[in-house]
Amino acid sequence: MKLSVTFLILIFVQIHIFAQYNPQYEDNKTPTYYEVINAYKYLADNYKQAQLFVEGKTDIGKPLHLFVLSLDGDFNPATIKKKNKRIVLINNGIHPGESCGIDASLQFATDILSGKLKAKKYLQNTVICIIPVYNVGGALNRGHSRMNQLGPIEHGFRGNGKNLDLNRDFIKCDSENTKSFERIFQKWSPDIFIDTHTSNGADYQYKITLIATQSDKLNPILAKYMDDTLVPYLYKSMKKSNYEMIPYVQTLGRTPDEGIFAFYDSPRYASGYTSLFNTIGFITETHMLKPYKDRVLSTYHFIVNLTGFVNKNYVEIGKIRQKAFKNTVNQSQFTVKWTLDKTKDSTILFKGYEAKYKTSEITGMQRLYYDRSKPYEKQIKYYHHYKAVKTIKKPAYYIIPQAWKRVIERLELNNVQIEQLDRDTVLSVTAYYVDDFSTRNLYENHYLHYDIKTHVKTENIQFYKGDYLVKPNQPTNYYIIATLEPDADDSFFAWNFFDAVLQHKEWISDYIFEETALKILKEHPEIKEKLEKSKEKDVNLAKSHYYQLFFIYQHSEYFEKSYRRYPVYRKELKK
Ligand SMILES: [Zn+2]
Repeated sequence: MKLSVTFLILIFVQIHIFAQYNPQYEDNKTPTYYEVINAYKYLADNYKQAQLFVEGKTDIGKPLHLFVLSLDGDFNPATIKKKNKRIVLINNGIHPGESCGIDASLQFATDILSGKLKAKKYLQNTVICIIPVYNVGGALNRGHSRMNQLGPIEHGFRGNGKNLDLNRDFIKCDSENTKSFERIFQKWSPDIFIDTHTSNGADYQYKITLIATQSDKLNPILAKYMDDTLVPYLYKSMKKSNYEMIPYVQTLGRTPDEGIFAFYDSPRYASGYTSLFNTIGFITETHMLKPYKDRVLSTYHFIVNLTGFVNKNYVEIGKIRQKAFKNTVNQSQFTVKWTLDKTKDSTILFKGYEAKYKTSEITGMQRLYYDRSKPYEKQIKYYHHYKAVKTIKKPAYYIIPQAWKRVIERLELNNVQIEQLDRDTVLSVTAYYVDDFSTRNLYENHYLHYDIKTHVKTENIQFYKGDYLVKPNQPTNYYIIATLEPDADDSFFAWNFFDAVLQHKEWISDYIFEETALKILKEHPEIKEKLEKSKEKDVNLAKSHYYQLFFIYQHSEYFEKSYRRYPVYRKELKK
């Protein structure tokens, strides 16, 4: 009996040793997807303050996991919110080759649960949610694809199971990963969001850089808190932790010497998406040429410092966010397009390496290199303000005909409250007509539109029972407007959800239309005048019999009314 108990204890200890997290980053390695999930399973199985949830699918067929740390063992976001606790969501491995956050989060969770970090200091008033690996397909596809990066020896790939860059997918939502993420995000509505990355680009002394979500587009009350209190604290505390940070180095010229500017995280990106919902988003970008251990530990200290701050200042952050939501519900205008404001420059102390040029042995041409034996400290220009380019007054409601289901699915996924018409009806609404637009080459499974020019008309439009009404009087207002206004940077229109309306459906036969066209020109001298003017400017039109007849058709009453009419309508607020 005695023997068998010892034997059982031995086996138990063995299992523990086997399952416990064994950091690999000291050896320039990162765990595999399976090792990560097993390590979190071990923590969830052994500590009542931790649980590992399966939260939907990913494109590769494996589930998306969410690991939650909650001091009192409450894992229900609704009751957690009632207790006035803050929620921090950490997303790792959106680009699995940039794996430092995967290791850092696992180390953080292990340290909290094992007592190495004082749990109360981080979890007393805060619940921490960790997505262990977001891009599961990319993490499983291990190799050496990040050749610009100093380790880890083997790492995941940027594209997911569908070869999508998930950090462009937050509005178009092409992947199962994104849909699962948005369900998690909407269910937990985190106060603070962290997305962990590794940078590319210039060489400099810092091991970690930071993108704080572009504060001009954040609710002003949140922006003020982020800019004046939270971000300064993060820089100060990271310096204290021996991982001094600098804003993400996005250079204006070839090197940082010519100045840097703040990353503009439009809603296609993780933190751009989260800021639509009054969540302050941070992106950590560790430097690709620093030892892997330093990249993991700098991310680790960022998580430690930020969660510690949130836990300490939970009351204030909660109040501010609540106010921000109140503002959002009542806000009448939303900016949907921004441009870098170069009139507001400031300087920043930058610790870089001298950039030099030498002759390439391969091409014989000049090549850039950074001389690490020549570190410098100097002031460089830093542009971090964006000015509004397009601001939209919200309507009383939007009407979306039920044909556009994919849009409705995304609105529902994002917690937008939607009503439906209970009968067929004709309504006088504002309709956008698309006059012009440019289209980008193939980009993330789409042909993104930009420079969208529209004009509006008030029209009576027939709607049908079941068509959708979306009132921008809710906490999700910014998401509604940023996706439904066609000229917004990352609108559903820009992402090709409505391309069908850009093509007309009927054509003319010129030999049949000739007599009718003649009649039209007699009755409508203004069309004739327009045609003559256009012929002067457009050689192809002037040379083509068919194009000229089509021009007349296009300007006549026979031409389809819905051509280039954007099918999301605005019912304006009563003045
Ligand atoms: Zn990245």
